[in-house]
Amino acid sequence: MREFREWGHKLTDWVADYLESPERYPVLPAVRPNEIVHSLPRTGPVKGESMEQIFADFEKLVLPGITHWNHPDFLAYFANTSSPPAILAEFLAAALNANGILWKTSPAVTELEVATLGWLLDWFDLPRQWFGMILDTASTATLHALAAARVAAAPETRDEGAPRNLIVYCSNQAHSSVEKGAMALGFGREQVRKIESDKAFRMRTDKLASAIALDRKHGLQPCCVVATVGTTSTTSIDPVPEIANIARREMLWLHVDAAYAGSAALVPELRWILDGADQADSFVFNPHKWLMIPVDCSLLYCARPDALRNAFSLVPEYLRTQDEGLNLMDYAIPLGRRFRALKLWFVLRYYGREGLAESIRDQVKMAAELRARIERDARFEICAPSPLSVVCFRLKGPDEPNRRLLEAVNATRRFFISHTVLNGRYVLRIAIGNAGTTRDTLDRLWRLIEELTVPSQC
Ligand code: PLP
Repeated sequence: MREFREWGHKLTDWVADYLESPERYPVLPAVRPNEIVHSLPRTGPVKGESMEQIFADFEKLVLPGITHWNHPDFLAYFANTSSPPAILAEFLAAALNANGILWKTSPAVTELEVATLGWLLDWFDLPRQWFGMILDTASTATLHALAAARVAAAPETRDEGAPRNLIVYCSNQAHSSVEKGAMALGFGREQVRKIESDKAFRMRTDKLASAIALDRKHGLQPCCVVATVGTTSTTSIDPVPEIANIARREMLWLHVDAAYAGSAALVPELRWILDGADQADSFVFNPHKWLMIPVDCSLLYCARPDALRNAFSLVPEYLRTQDEGLNLMDYAIPLGRRFRALKLWFVLRYYGREGLAESIRDQVKMAAELRARIERDARFEICAPSPLSVVCFRLKGPDEPNRRLLEAVNATRRFFISHTVLNGRYVLRIAIGNAGTTRDTLDRLWRLIEELTVPSQC
């Protein structure tokens, strides 16, 4: 234990220095594919090595291959951030190594999960009676929601697999995890309907209604509709109240994917993004996207937990218990459960609802300011509304200069931005989500973009 204490202190200092100024590293690493693999021995060590050697190699071989998500100039995908209380909680969770398979295998693992997920329902003003559990990612959560929807629509599918006539609906802007989850459950790709979206990239409910009617006419069985609150490309928000009306009328399972945007509903003036979400049968949001929680932590809520249970409960003899405790393994694919609720509990308590909301509110404001700045530059066009913290824009004209601009920005390794395709055009995306990003970050980025877009370079 003496060595553990010594290294525990050293690494705490190292992590504190790192978190204090991640800017000392470039956001993007300079490594080429397979370079790290080739720098490591082909076989593992037969005899144990010292912490000195291991940590020296961490700094020499691993760190140069890290893309720094903690860096304030990381503005790609959905930028996010870890936080000191969450890191400390992860340290404790690893030390306790408690596995929440059953209530009995560690009651606090399950009960902290129930309590923290209940707090968030309260903060979001969503139905407090919803069942909730933590999974690794929104992709896994959506797969679980689709499995519950499938069993609710056709109970025999639990034993027989997906019948060929069940249909899932989502917009053409929905995350690929919907289609992937459906595929994993045995739906054919032709059983996922991607409904057209409007000019603001929100699902068109008239097209949804007509697709359902057409499928019924052809003897197919509409089963589930997935509405997205905060789509991946543009953060557009599907009209959930209208989609919920259609789902209720047509007896479809409604799954709401708020993986990124859900956190923003903590800001009172942004609560509207969850209008209609109280009608959902299932709802996912990722604290690891915008709530100061490091990967992984995705919350799946369900208004009809019996359907989840029907889809997933299968108890081998050695796991049968007599107590009344909640056994989360009955509702999900994984048996073992990491103590993820600990970091959620630490973070919710440390920042409080107002502290978390304040950080998100400011990031949304920064995105609006950046958007206004881009709008003032006649060479660029804004490509989508920016209801939250992502701005989509492009140089007017062909795609190629836009592609080159993205590559040039990222080649500096000082900033990391990403792209998408909207209406067939290549579009640049700046995503604000790191708690360290400031107006200065965005000034520096915009100055770089201006330098790179002097006519000879584009
Ligand atoms: N849903 C939406 C709207 C997303 O933007 C993403 C990822 O960015 C996902 C789902 C998948 O999230 P995860 O990486 O947690 O599976």
